[in-house]
Amino acid sequence: MIAAKGYAAQSANAELSLWTFDRRDVGPHDVQIEILYCGVCHSDVAQINNEWFPGLFPMVPGHEIVGRVVAVGEHVKNFKPGDLAGVGTLANSCKKCAHCDDGLEVYCENGVIPTYNGLDKYRDGLPTYGGYSNTIVSDESFTLHIPEKLNLAAIAPLLCAGITTYSPLKHWKVGKGHKLAV
Ligand SMILES: [Zn+2]
Ligand SMILES: [Zn+2]
Repeated sequence: MIAAKGYAAQSANAELSLWTFDRRDVGPHDVQIEILYCGVCHSDVAQINNEWFPGLFPMVPGHEIVGRVVAVGEHVKNFKPGDLAGVGTLANSCKKCAHCDDGLEVYCENGVIPTYNGLDKYRDGLPTYGGYSNTIVSDESFTLHIPEKLNLAAIAPLLCAGITTYSPLKHWKVGKGHKLAV
């Protein structure tokens, strides 16, 4: 296991406090990222406060993660140590249903595993912990490349808030003259 530290809510509605915990070892298809920035999403607050469903505690929130790769698994071909990388809201999915095959893992028929506040039933059954921490081990297929020379603090919120807004604009081909609400 990899020793990590982060800010966790120890129970529902609790304030975040420093917590040390373990990340899984880097598997063949994993990348380990040293986290540099993590956005704060309102759903972090909602989940700490059990507004959606009873949460898993201790909970380390954060799903707008930007950092630098420090280690890669033996089968990882698309990342190498030193690369910038991002992680959004998803940690895993079944990878075998029709939606996963189409690259629409968020609609996985067998259920997606969130970056935090979930149990990864496809891997080890253990809780996932998010980006309010110093390091994360991420499946390469749920890890994104981040270009160099951008404002990394500004990139982080694109991993949830940004893509949530951008995706429907692109899907519906919103352009000049359209009216819309966000
Ligand atoms: Zn979010
Ligand atoms: Zn699936």
